[in-house]
Amino acid sequence: MRQIAPSILSADFLNLGRDIETLNESADLIHLDVMDGCQVPNISFGFSVVEAVSTIARIPMDAHLMIVHPEKWFERFSRLGVSALSFHAEAADNQGDSISDFIQRIKSLGMKAGVAINPDYPVEKILPYVQEADFILVMSVFAGFGGQKFIEATYDRVKAIKSEIDRTGSNCIIEVDGGVGTANI
Ligand code: ZN
Repeated sequence: MRQIAPSILSADFLNLGRDIETLNESADLIHLDVMDGCQVPNISFGFSVVEAVSTIARIPMDAHLMIVHPEKWFERFSRLGVSALSFHAEAADNQGDSISDFIQRIKSLGMKAGVAINPDYPVEKILPYVQEADFILVMSVFAGFGGQKFIEATYDRVKAIKSEIDRTGSNCIIEVDGGVGTANI
């Protein structure tokens, strides 16, 4: 099954309500790219925007945390009604935390748990998690900015993850994030 999760980074923030209504009518999920200026070299938006979106969202919210210590905020995103929550494997690795532990914590809050990886994260390091995670978010651009060009090497990374999903019989979903448009979808 193919689903489309447009990022609100591409929205007109002066008319965010109008754009969310467009997604309600046409998309499967609303993708919320949360950046802190530490894990990635940009700051996007925080809880006030997520909360505002939650008041009119009629399709599930999918929050992608590009922040250090994402675990501090799992519960708060859950309270805001986020359905799917992903954190970066790089964030867990850098702070010496367990990716499995984060996955379990997100699931225990009733959300789908995703692990995100940047284009330079060794794909073999993420394969052990396809049986635990609900989804793997494969960045097809470097996390931090919208509007970048799709990195072609992403196809091989997606294939490697798909093979492991098939091999293990997992229900894990692959989410591809960055530079996806009508030409390559
Ligand atoms: Zn994203």
